Amino acid sequence: MTGQLISDEPTTAVLSGVRLAKEIRAEVTTTAATLAEAGVPPRLAVVVATDDESTAWYVRSIANAASKTGIRCDVIDLGAGATPAEIRSELASLSADPSVHGIMLQTPLPGGATVEELAASIAPEKDVDGANPVSLGRLSAGLAAFVPATAAAVLELLEHHEIPLSGRRAVVVGRSNVVGKPAAQLLLRRDATVTVCHRYTRDLTAHTHPAEILVVAVGQVGLIGAEHVSPGAVVIDVGTNPTVDGGLVGDVDETAVTGMVAGLTPVPGGVGPVTTALLLRHTVESASRSTA
Ligand code: NAP
Repeated sequence: MTGQLISDEPTTAVLSGVRLAKEIRAEVTTTAATLAEAGVPPRLAVVVATDDESTAWYVRSIANAASKTGIRCDVIDLGAGATPAEIRSELASLSADPSVHGIMLQTPLPGGATVEELAASIAPEKDVDGANPVSLGRLSAGLAAFVPATAAAVLELLEHHEIPLSGRRAVVVGRSNVVGKPAAQLLLRRDATVTVCHRYTRDLTAHTHPAEILVVAVGQVGLIGAEHVSPGAVVIDVGTNPTVDGGLVGDVDETAVTGMVAGLTPVPGGVGPVTTALLLRHTVESASRSTA
């Protein structure tokens, strides 16, 4: 999918992340095997402090994908009663362990603790989900750093599907440190003209309608409908909302915008698999650097 974004083209391309994720996992598998042969088996540690079932499902899917690519993944479950001090101490001890190359702190966190505060205890060189404020600051400054995997996945998907970014009107709905803000920074880095919307944005439609590239990361079913988009726009739906029948839907009303926009990422099968694959890529990158 290349060239002009706004057009009268009535079809909507499904911007799947499945093939891209498979390609990234294949590349990770090769690197992980080389590292293991060199005596540096890559290792990812995921710290959990919740009994939330959807978190457990997500963490299992990361561990499963890691083991298939030859990355050891340790899930460290501190329990929903863990204190911020205990979580910080675990992150610091993993940071000091030379056999660990990637560290992730999973949300939600107990007792009002924020990931922004606690992730400061993750060594930046092992911060494979870009959660440490140092990583986020370096991203804003245009310096090398691990980028939050979901935001990185948004850009990987746009590049994979050959969506032009330079000079384009990009609108990001959502401003979390995990997705919205870093996605906006990455779009800026690629010379898009970026608008960021949030809960207090007045007249969301007025902002999203002119978008040539629309990234939606809110967590609200049906937030974006036909009135929010222009014909020819490319829409990246980051939202993942569980359905009553155990499925998953995004933030974009797929039925309403299909046939109108030029491209839309599916949920599931869009941003999600690429996010997991990038976490693994970041882990082998960290392991490779540890040998340098
Ligand atoms: P979050 O921390 O809850 O942030 C949501 C953002 O949406 C906030 O910035 C909030 O604005 C904004 N918002 C809320 N209501 C809005 C409205 N009516 N209009 C415009 N903006 C609104 O969530 P998150 O962690 O960024 O995640 C967002 C979604 O992405 C969730 O569905 C999550 O499950 C999904 N996600 C998917 C992946 C993946 O791999 N596919 C990974 C991470 C997250 P304020 O800042 O003003 O409150």
